[in-house]
Amino acid sequence: PILRVAIMGLGSYGTRVADAMQASKKAKLVAAISGTPSKLKDWQSKYNIPEKNCYNYETFDAIKDNPDIDAVYIITPNALHKDQAIRVANAGKHVICEKPMSINAKDGQAMIDACKKNNVKLLVGYRMHFEPKTLEIIRMRKDGELGKVLFFQGLCGFTIGNPTQWRLNKALAGGGAMMDIGIYAINGARYMIGEEPIWVTAQETKTNPEKFKTGVDETIQFQLGFPSGAVASCLSTYTMNNLDRFFLNAEKGFAELLPSTGYGPIKGRTNKGELNYPHVTHQTVQMDEMAGIILEGKQPIVPVDGEEGLKDLKIIDAIFLAVKTGKKVPLKL
Ligand code: NAD
Repeated sequence: PILRVAIMGLGSYGTRVADAMQASKKAKLVAAISGTPSKLKDWQSKYNIPEKNCYNYETFDAIKDNPDIDAVYIITPNALHKDQAIRVANAGKHVICEKPMSINAKDGQAMIDACKKNNVKLLVGYRMHFEPKTLEIIRMRKDGELGKVLFFQGLCGFTIGNPTQWRLNKALAGGGAMMDIGIYAINGARYMIGEEPIWVTAQETKTNPEKFKTGVDETIQFQLGFPSGAVASCLSTYTMNNLDRFFLNAEKGFAELLPSTGYGPIKGRTNKGELNYPHVTHQTVQMDEMAGIILEGKQPIVPVDGEEGLKDLKIIDAIFLAVKTGKKVPLKL
């Protein structure tokens, strides 16, 4: 079976996913949802999408009557994900939603509830969960080859440009760098260490309050504590380039991904040497695997479901609280 997908939000990442899906053996782009008629026209010819499978943000509830669509992949600004996901679920279609799943844990829970109620799946676009070098390090850790895990460092950032973009608008982004890129360090700490954190501390710095307005974080350093005693130290920023590195230190070895979450190629090495796996297009593999999860009940090695997305949102809520109070915030995931 083939997963027949509609993409909602035909922006830069939506286009990347659409291009990558052309090479997928299990997922097919069949429909598009956009507020811009000219983009729908372009996509019709570029991806061979029929006119009857094109919708806008007012009309897309009607996908419930369209038997050609199995799932909608939501690739819009963060703050819109919640309502859009709930509408897709209410239309009886599976939801694939970009990260961050929503802008806080409360909204994430509402999405999970709506999908459960409508008996549809909810998956989050965590493409690194299918990346071969990442998975090899996880396998080594699970098989005990690295020994007891002691420390993780996640450095995630880039220098953001245009100050008028939605990513720097609190109402659409829900925050700043943390929602966009810092979430990779949070998520990475969890899958690299293989535990759920029990506390967080965090410190924010801002060099440019003009560009990074109230509620839009520029740089946050945060620390996570895990039940085994392992700790993570992470940096999320919109003001530094060449910052994309994971480092895991354990009693018997280490693992490094540098770069760790870019579109690739990902480079990895451990105390045993370079990790040699061919580069894969992350979004192609992700769509193949997500089709397997939705249509065949396949279980991914690292989860990509709503509960997984919700855990990262609970940690983000706690990081923002830790920044505000200056206190260590306990976590229960
Ligand atoms: P983008 O600005 O390029 O595209 C966003 C699209 O949403 C645009 O086409 C825009 O027209 C549309 N849109 C609909 N309603 C809108 C509104 N009210 N205001 C503004 N735009 C509106 O952004 P993007 O980079 O494609 O990011 C979209 C989502 O994808 C975000 O949630 C982002 O975090 C996620 N993303 C994920 C990855 C990844 O690697 N997994 C990479 C990039 C982006």
